[in-house]
Order: sequence, then structure tokens, then C-alpha cells
Amino acid sequence: MNYTAPVKDMLFCMTELANLDAVAKLPGFDDAGLDTAQAVLEECARFSEGVLAPLNREGDVHPSTWKDGVVTTTPGFKDAFRQFGEGGWQGLQHPADFGGQNLPKTIGAACIEMINSANLSFALCPLLTDGAIEALLTAGTREQQDAFIPKMISGEWTGTMNLTEPQAGSDLALVRTRAEPLGDGRYKIFGTKIYITYGEHDMAENIVHLVLARVVGAPEGVKGISLFLVPKFLVDGAGALGARNDAWCVSIEHKLGIKASPTAVLQFGDRGVAGGSGGDAVPGAIGTLIGQENRGLEYMFIMMNAARYAVGMQGIAVAEAAYQKAAAFAKERVQSRPVDGSVAGSATIIHHPDVRRMLMTMRAYTEGCRAMAMVAAAAFDAAHHHGDAEVRKQNQAFYEFMVPLVKGYSTEMSIDVASLGVQVHGGMGFIEETGAAQFLRDARILTIYEGTTAIQANDLVGRKTARDGGRLALAIAAQIETTESALKESTSVASRSMLKRLAAARAAFVEVVGFVVAQSKSNPNAVFAGSVAYLMLAGNLMAGWQMARALLAAERMLAAGQGDRAFLDAKVATSRFYAEHLLAKVPGLRDSIVDGADSVTQMALESF
Ligand SMILES: Cc1cc2nc3c(=O)[nH]c(=O)nc-3n(C[C@H](O)[C@H](O)[C@H](O)COP(=O)(O)OP(=O)(O)OC[C@H]3O[C@@H](n4cnc5c(N)ncnc54)[C@H](O)[C@@H]3O)c2cc1C
Repeated sequence: MNYTAPVKDMLFCMTELANLDAVAKLPGFDDAGLDTAQAVLEECARFSEGVLAPLNREGDVHPSTWKDGVVTTTPGFKDAFRQFGEGGWQGLQHPADFGGQNLPKTIGAACIEMINSANLSFALCPLLTDGAIEALLTAGTREQQDAFIPKMISGEWTGTMNLTEPQAGSDLALVRTRAEPLGDGRYKIFGTKIYITYGEHDMAENIVHLVLARVVGAPEGVKGISLFLVPKFLVDGAGALGARNDAWCVSIEHKLGIKASPTAVLQFGDRGVAGGSGGDAVPGAIGTLIGQENRGLEYMFIMMNAARYAVGMQGIAVAEAAYQKAAAFAKERVQSRPVDGSVAGSATIIHHPDVRRMLMTMRAYTEGCRAMAMVAAAAFDAAHHHGDAEVRKQNQAFYEFMVPLVKGYSTEMSIDVASLGVQVHGGMGFIEETGAAQFLRDARILTIYEGTTAIQANDLVGRKTARDGGRLALAIAAQIETTESALKESTSVASRSMLKRLAAARAAFVEVVGFVVAQSKSNPNAVFAGSVAYLMLAGNLMAGWQMARALLAAERMLAAGQGDRAFLDAKVATSRFYAEHLLAKVPGLRDSIVDGADSVTQMALESF
């Protein structure tokens, strides 16, 4: 696969929208500003383009395989993962104390995008490891942190997230995996986990499973769930590998996409620790508690918030890759005479306005979501590093509002973008060798794992909007009005157009927030019937808002004769397209949410 990392757009988002200068000045970031960002991005681009992208199709054609409990990954993955570890990529955003590079998320997020654009299946392994590191940093003991985090950062070991069970998917209150205390601080874990990404593989010498389970006698529901650290190989106090733990991969799934990523069924507590004596020889996987008993879901949410953001980046990543492939194809494929007669005979399909519409849609969605994600990343950095507690709190609230949008909206749009990519290719898009179809198949999981779009929407409605009576949502709307005021200063066609659509979209958002707040208790079915539409509306608006800011920045730079003219002209054109074709959809979503709620649930259940 040919992939060229969009370094220029990433740096533009960082400097013009996410205020990288301010991020670099936050305590603890050692001036990780533009020079650092540029150097890191260029190096990551080299690795992603040169090492990971060539393995992308290989992974689709030769997925991971399972035999007698052993999983063998796609040829080339193991070596690529070794290079990934040696390059320090796993540690990018993690603390230097544990061997990480301590870079801001604002820079790290761009690297995550590149790695995922190049090879989504490969990138899932580090994505889950990041989540496990995050959970240990938050709730692990110092011993757990010292024993496990450095090895995960170096890429010697990897991490997993074990939530799902056959009867417990979106509803984790139904988790049944059992933990029996051994009385010495250790627990024996029994149960079956399904769909565990990189739950077994051959790329690292140990796998650190983070497992949700219920301590015997714990309360029913989510309040009785604890989090355990269950390594594939037990680890002694000095960090050396010991006996094989009683955690086994009984099969891996055959999937629609991300075929190289092994999705494992794991059985805990079937056989006893291999070679174990005394209690260890009796079945039960040995685990240690992370944090306190019955607070597992709380810790898992930390891990999930990190992972949800990263899955949103996966959406942006696959959209970028699909766009690049489609644009390249459209410049080569010759078919039909242009309607304006600009070419005498058949021309490359990029001459046809409808192909341009598809490519612009792909590009505008991708750039809008990237801009939104970068701004969210900067808020995360301020929330964790700013010296002023009040500023930290505000940024944390903003970031948390953005997480379901980055996850939900960017992944939903990635399916549309990848589907358009197939359409641009015509029949060739439906043929596997082209590679356009793989993006569509790979993207399809993104709206499902780490919480389906409906689960993100429930979060947006309940915790992020209704809980504070819509205060934060309306405060963000007020910030958007500030951008509208700036747009009023410009007389360009693009700015006028953006102003009109941004104001209409913001007004629609404010109205929907009012509806959600007013009806969420009295008429929950009406609100939740439109919850995904609300998420799509809010995501579209937030991405459109950042495109408006991008437009203003590009116009300012053009007027000042700064920057790369072709890039900035393209940014103006893409922002205007976003306004006229994507933001323009927002008022229609408002109508479905506010006026159309009843028709969703009107028909009798028996009529389905
Ligand atoms: C390839 C792959 C990799 C995965 N990796 C991991 C992993 O590493 N670790 C892990 O623990 N899990 C993993 N999962 C599991 C994944 O997180 C779940 O599939 C997901 O959470 C959905 O659960 P479910 O499949 O049981 O669907 P269900 O929860 O049964 O959902 C079915 C449908 O009902 C809807 N629904 C359910 N509840 C609600 C509600 N309250 N409101 C509105 N709609 C609702 C959903 O949106 C969906 O449309 C993976 C899954 C796959 C396929």
C-alpha cells in the first residue's frame, strides 16, 4: 500500500488550531514545540510508510492463525513490532520515569494516526498496550508499575483489555468472570473472555492481561466489578519471567476486516499454572488486584477513555488512507468526456464533478475530524499539565465532552469515507486487489468496539449533557459564537458561506441541547431515539467549527504571504466545502431529533 503521512496538515492543526506553543510551555513537556513535533512526525512517517504500510495488504491476505493454542501473526509483523519497540514508539506519550518519551498527546495523536493509516491491524496491539499502561499508571501499585510498565513501553511485553464475555458486551454489569482471593494478595481467576484483541500472539515474550472480574461475594451489577492484572507468564519480584499462567487462547475469530489482528477467546482457570506446585497447580489463573476491590469499572473507564480517543484516531487514519488511494486512482483512470468539454475525448475521472464531490467529501470529513481530535488532544494536555487547577478542570471537562464525538463521529464518518473510496474506484473498488475494499472492511469494526456508537451517544446525552443541565455544551456553543464573530470580519466568499452554516448549525445544536436537557428525565425514549443523531450533529458541528478556525488561519496566512500557498488554498477550499456540504446537514438532524423522536418508537414491537 502506498501511504504518505499528511505531515503538513498535522502540523497546521497543531500550530494553528491546537496552540502547540502553549502546549509546549506546559510544565513537564520540556519545550516539545514545533521543532520536536516536526522531527517526531517525520520519523514516524518514515516508519509508517516504509515498514507498516507494505504489510497492510499482507495482513488482509495472510491473517493471524491459531493452532493448538498458539497464535502466529502475519509474516513480517513480528519484525515490524520489534522495530516499533526499538524506535521508542510505544513510549511516546508515557512518563520518562518508566522509559517513555513524555511527549504531549497533541504530538502523540498525530503519530497514532499515521501508524493506523499505514496498518490498522498492526496498530491495535500498541493501542491496547497504551490503555493497559494508562490503567496501571492510574491505579496500579508502585511494584506493579515497576514490574510491568517499562517492559510494555519497550515493546518486550504487550497489554490487553479483557472486558467482554459472551453474555456481557455493552452491558458490563453482566460480567461473570470470578476472582477467588488466595489470602496472600493474589487471586485465582476463572472465566471466559471473548473478542480479546491481541489476546494471544507471537510478537512479544509476555502478554499482560487486564481482566474485569467479580471477587466472590461482591455486589451484583457494576458496583461489584474489580480489575486484575493477569500476565500470560508470571513475573517474579525482580521482573523475570516465571511459569506459564492458566490463561489460554482457545480460538481466534474469522472476521470481516482487521484480519491480521488476532481476536481471541481466552479461557482463564482451566488447567492450573504450568509446572505449578501447591495451590498454583490447581486450576485458576493467578492475578493481582489493580487498585481497590469493586472499583474496577472506574479504572477501566480511564483505560477506555484513552482507547476511545485512539479508536477515533483510527477512524481518521483509515479515512485518510482511503482518500489518498481514491485521489490517486481518480488521477489515473480515464473514462468519459467531461461535461464542460474541457477535454476533447475521454479524460481522467477526476475531471467529473461528481468524482470531485466524492473526493472533497472524503477530504473534508477527514480534515475536519483531524482538527477536532487535535484540539481535544491539546485540552487533554492542559487538563493534565497546566499549573492552574481551574484551567485543568475546564480542559478536562472539554476533553471528556469531546471523547464520544472523536470516537463516535470520526468512526461513523470513516465508514462513509471508505465506502466513497470504493465508489470512486467503480468496479475496481469491489475487487480485493485494489485495496479500497479493505479500508471499508477494516473501518467497519470502529463503530462497534470500545463502545458502539449508541453507547458513545448515551454517554454524550447522559453524563456529558443532561447531568450538568447542558452548561458545558452551551459554553462550547458560546465559544463557537466567538469564531462566528471573527468570520464576520472577513469578506471572502468562503468566510461568508462558513459563517452562515456555522451559525445555523450552532443554533440547531443549542436547540437540541435544550431538548435533551428538558426531556431526558420526563421522556427518555424521545431523547434516546435521537441520541446517535445528536452525537452526529455535535460531531459535525465541532469538526465544522475547527474547519472555520482553519479557514480563518489559512486566510490570515495567505494575506500575510506566509506558509505554503497551495496547501493554504486547498484548506480554504476544503473548509468552504465542509460548510456548504457537511455543516449544511446539521439543521436537518435537528429536525429528526426534535420533531422525529416519536416515529422511532411508534410502531408496535410485534410489527417488526
Ligand atoms: C474485532 C473485535 C475486537 C474486540 N476487542 C475487544 C477487546 O480487546 N477487549 C474487549 O473486552 N472487548 C473487545 N471487543 C468487544 C466489543 O467491545 C463489543 O463487541 C462491543 O462492546 C459490543 O458488545 P456486543 O458485541 O456484545 O454487542 P451488544 O452489546 O449485544 O450490542 C448489540 C447492539 O445493541 C445496541 N445496544 C446495546 N446496549 C445498548 C444501549 N444501552 N443503548 C442503545 N443501544 C444498545 C448496540 O449499540 C448494538 O447495536 C471486540 C470486538 C470485536 C468484534
